[in-house]
This record gives sequence, structure tokens and C-alpha cells, in this order.
Amino acid sequence: ATPTALMVGTGRGAKMGILIKNGEVLEEVNDVKTVVFDKTGTITVGKPEVTDVIGDTDQVLSLAAALEESSEHPLATAIMNEAADKAITAEAATNFEAIRGEGVKATVAGKSVMVGNDKLIGRVSMTKELETKAHQLQNEAKTVVYVAADDQIIGLIAIQDTPKETSKAAIAELKAKGLETVMLTGDNERVAKAIADQVGIDKVIADVLPGDKADHVKQLQADGKVAFVGDGINDAPALSTADVGIAMGSGTDIAIESGGIVLVKNDLRDVAKALELSRKTFNRIK
Ligand code: ADP
Ligand code: MG
Repeated sequence: ATPTALMVGTGRGAKMGILIKNGEVLEEVNDVKTVVFDKTGTITVGKPEVTDVIGDTDQVLSLAAALEESSEHPLATAIMNEAADKAITAEAATNFEAIRGEGVKATVAGKSVMVGNDKLIGRVSMTKELETKAHQLQNEAKTVVYVAADDQIIGLIAIQDTPKETSKAAIAELKAKGLETVMLTGDNERVAKAIADQVGIDKVIADVLPGDKADHVKQLQADGKVAFVGDGINDAPALSTADVGIAMGSGTDIAIESGGIVLVKNDLRDVAKALELSRKTFNRIK
């Protein structure tokens, strides 16, 4: 395209709330075959809320809150909000440790406490009943956080984050254009599949460690050009690796810096709009 056509294209994008940092990105958009989405804050609203507590509610929440007080994870915020709503006070924790992609650990009242997913609690044995309950909650698209004290699971907390209103329509538009859609998330496979089903995403890559998102993007690039849509700190490498990095305007600064396109309105339907913009920009001069 001529520089003028590119300027017109990026100008039109800006008016629609689609910020294109460099006109050349617009050309890449034309050739995208696969659109990969982060889950939390991209497909979902990103404001998870506690829906169920299994076990002694006060004990489970006060132990979990003792640890999550020191965490900045969205799941930690959900747990702290629930504890506050129920006027549950957190005990003091020492030796706090955050394990990326797994959860948090600390000592509370002399006990070794862990709050996180099945990778974190690892070999701590669980009753069949609790496991069945956990799977049921996960199939309902709820993220399960286990609470363990001294190698015994004392309960679990189910946390839900709902899809944005327009996510489903956005995915349908992309699929209608013949694009492949993929969800890439650190969350559990059952939860990821349940959310993917709700919005119509074809393929799910779950249980991905924060540092591994970019590698998965590289693998998908074997089938053609890839656009990655994300918002988080841990999405930055995937945003840079993708042929087209699309950051949510509500995202972290580092995600916005890493994306070639920024969706100011945080509306996933703007991914399809960016595609149309690219087609128009390049057809005009052919
Ligand atoms: P994502 O940003 O895709 O949700 P993360 O890598 O941040 O993925 O987290 C992956 C998983 O690790 C979470 O779904 C959760 O099970 C667990 N986890 C991470 N941090 C915490 C925390 N502070 N409390 C409880 N669980 C956590
Ligand atoms: Mg996210």
C-alpha cells in the first residue's frame, strides 16, 4: 500500500478506537489465519468472584485470606473481597511465597498453608468426594482454588469470571471470516473448555505456564500467521511474538507497549473490524 493509504487506514482505525501503531501491522492483519486469545480480562470481564466455598467457610476463607493478602493475582482479589463481605479477618502469615501459575504458600499459626491449583497442592491427598465436587465446579466454568494446611486439604474456593457481553459475537464474526480461534490460558483445562464452549472458541490450550505462552504462539505460526489478543503482564512476550499483537486498552502497560494494535474500547468485536479495515486499505490500491 502507498504511505497515504496506510495513513488513511490508521486514521480510520483511530476513529473507531482501534489504535494501529505502525501502518505495516495493518498489512500483516490481512494474512492472519489464527486468532489466539488470552482468557482472563480478554475473553472474560476479568473481575472474578467467589461463588462457592466447600468446607468450613470461615476456616477456609480466613486461611486463604491470610495468604492472598500478599498476592496481586485477580483470584487473590476475589478471595479478599469475599472474606471482607463475610467479615472474616485474616490471620497473620509469614514466609510468604508466590509460585507463578500455581498459587501461594506461607506459614500461618505454625501451619504450612498452600492456596492454589492442583499443580501446587500436588501430592496432598484429596477425598474422592472433594475431587468430584472440584470437577463439577470446573465444568461450570469456575476456577477451583484448593486450601491445604499441613498436608491436608481443608476445603476449596470456586471463583467465576464471566465472558464479556460481546465475546461470543466477536468469535462468531471471526469464524465467519474463515479464521481459526484458539484460547491460551494458565487456567485449568476443564474451566477453559467450559468458557470456550460459552463463546464458541474451537481450540483450547490450557495449564500454560506464564513463560510458555509465546512458545505456543510460535508453534501455531507453523500453520500460518497468528494474531494474539491479550491484556496481562504475562501476555507481553506472546504479543511481541505474534505476527499481529492486539492488546486490550484496559490491559497492563507492558501489554499495551507490546501490542501493535490497541483496542481502546476493550471490545473483541474490534478484532474483526481491524481485519475489515486492513482488507479495505489494501484492496483500494490493488
Ligand atoms: P491466567 O492469568 O491465565 O489466569 P496464571 O498463570 O496467572 O494464569 O495462573 C494460573 C493458575 O494458577 C490460576 O488459574 C490458579 O489456579 C493458580 N494461581 C495463581 N496465582 C494464584 C493465587 N494467588 N491464588 C490462588 N491460585 C493461584
Ligand atoms: Mg488476561
